[in-house]
Amino acid sequence: MFRTHTCGELRMADVNTEVTLAGWVQRIRDLGAMTFIDLRDRYGITQLVVDEETNELVTTKLTELGREFVIQAKGTVRERSSKNSNIETGEIEIALSEIQILNPAELPPFTIQDNTDGGDDLRMKYRYLDLRRNTVRENLILRAKMAHAVRSYLNDKKFIETETPVLIKSTPEGARDFIVPSRMNEGEFYALPQSPQVFKQLLMIAGFDRYYQIVKCFRDEDLRADRQPEFTQIDCEMAFVEQKDVLETFEGLTKFLFKETLNLEIKEFPWMPYSEAMEKYGSDKPDIRFEMLINDISETVKGKGFGVFDSAEFIGAICAPNCATYSRKQLDQLTNWVKRPQIGAKGLVYVKCNDDGSFKSSVDKFYSQDDLKQWADAVGAKPHDLILVMSGDRDKTLSALGELRLEMGTQLELRDKNIFKPLWVVDFPLLEWNEETQRFHAMHHPFTAPKPEDVHLLDTDPGKVRANAYDLVINGVEIGGGSVRIYNSELQATMFDKLGFTTEEAQTQFGFLMNAFKYGAPPHAGIAFGFDRLVSMFAGLDSIRDVIAFPKNNSGRDVMIDSPSPVAQEQLDELSLKLNIKEKE
Ligand code: ASP
Repeated sequence: MFRTHTCGELRMADVNTEVTLAGWVQRIRDLGAMTFIDLRDRYGITQLVVDEETNELVTTKLTELGREFVIQAKGTVRERSSKNSNIETGEIEIALSEIQILNPAELPPFTIQDNTDGGDDLRMKYRYLDLRRNTVRENLILRAKMAHAVRSYLNDKKFIETETPVLIKSTPEGARDFIVPSRMNEGEFYALPQSPQVFKQLLMIAGFDRYYQIVKCFRDEDLRADRQPEFTQIDCEMAFVEQKDVLETFEGLTKFLFKETLNLEIKEFPWMPYSEAMEKYGSDKPDIRFEMLINDISETVKGKGFGVFDSAEFIGAICAPNCATYSRKQLDQLTNWVKRPQIGAKGLVYVKCNDDGSFKSSVDKFYSQDDLKQWADAVGAKPHDLILVMSGDRDKTLSALGELRLEMGTQLELRDKNIFKPLWVVDFPLLEWNEETQRFHAMHHPFTAPKPEDVHLLDTDPGKVRANAYDLVINGVEIGGGSVRIYNSELQATMFDKLGFTTEEAQTQFGFLMNAFKYGAPPHAGIAFGFDRLVSMFAGLDSIRDVIAFPKNNSGRDVMIDSPSPVAQEQLDELSLKLNIKEKE
């Protein structure tokens, strides 16, 4: 037997037992008469002791040992004289009688400890060593636990776990596809799925009734902290349901996950229309852990001779509680913050609500104390508060105010990672006008159904049509989204037409789906959660990379296996591909 116990298992009750352990050498402390070795495996750390009585063979082996060597150690469990309450095996140690080096190790490029000295790049290059660290491994154990809970909840609810293909067909579904050349079909390509969307709809036509899959999806987009070229979704679809049924089922799943993994009871999730989220939070993923809502003060502030406001389409304000004491420097910093290209505001107007009921603003030249009192009333500001105002194009200003609101929430420590406030954002617009392409794009995807009461607007005012589309948002992060689907081939054809597809294009790309709709398609709806995001949120982390065993870096590279990489000319020839890369200067 390789080992009788793991390194996290032995306790006082095991004293005097003969044991065999195996693991990695974490640390060796040579105190002359005694040597201590911390032996580590996934389950914990156990202290091994070699003292003078131990046979010579062991003592000689010791001189060869180094950090991260893999060893097998035999000995007797005994009570420690100085106990360590920080680790679970801290009351005992093993008096060694035999030691065997199973595999020596080179000195690791960084320390394998909770707080390592390794930088990001180094840790990614040696990810297998990084994964030996408790903090990193624990994130992946949480992930496994959550995946297990998802399966158990959905299996209980009679969902059928079904795999869908990874080599599919390139279709325009928002992001750019990763494409894979086909050797057997010269000049033709597969695409990796951005999501199993059409397959899960076909499964509903097939009568599966309830489908789910924890599935890899691929999108060739520029990367950010919460994006990876390949990521995992909890993907689901249900037949004979309405929006309410989907939201109930997946609210149930979310609550189940909170309970199972964090032991948290979460109250019923509020529903917020998209329009309200945009108006009050300046975002379609509002962080509702704190208030500080956006107020439209356009009517209150116009007509006093301040040109910037008088000519603006929209003027909005937030009220930062207890911030009237902000210094000149702090206010300048905020102004510079909103002027950064990421936010793109032209400036920031402030009003300090003094304790004595008077006001001090950056636009005192144009506004009297009475005027400013009206502003304060409009935003519900009290003495000691700070009003922050921005103006300009309505949508841009709302979104800039939304960003400023989040920044103030962070500065005022109102965004506690241990508090979770989920909500459903509902009634998304069906279509979104794209300035660049000068046409409408599907806000969610082309298979989303318009709200029946808005269908008549499709011809006259397409931008006004709302969809039964919904997002689950937790703490300002979009965790998932879905919609009620079109299940009628004519309506699907109209939708493609509105999206600027010619009949032929729609036919070549999605003919199979419109055709399938003719063979008895049930009403259906579905949703997908971003699993990596959900896990990273549960783990209290900002980046999804920390919950992925082997993630890619910001340039989409796996620096450990060094991918992507060039391929041999023969491979290209077999695929009939010719590279056309301009020589670098
Ligand atoms: N396929 C969609 C997505 O990936 C989710 C859904 O509509 O079910 O966002």
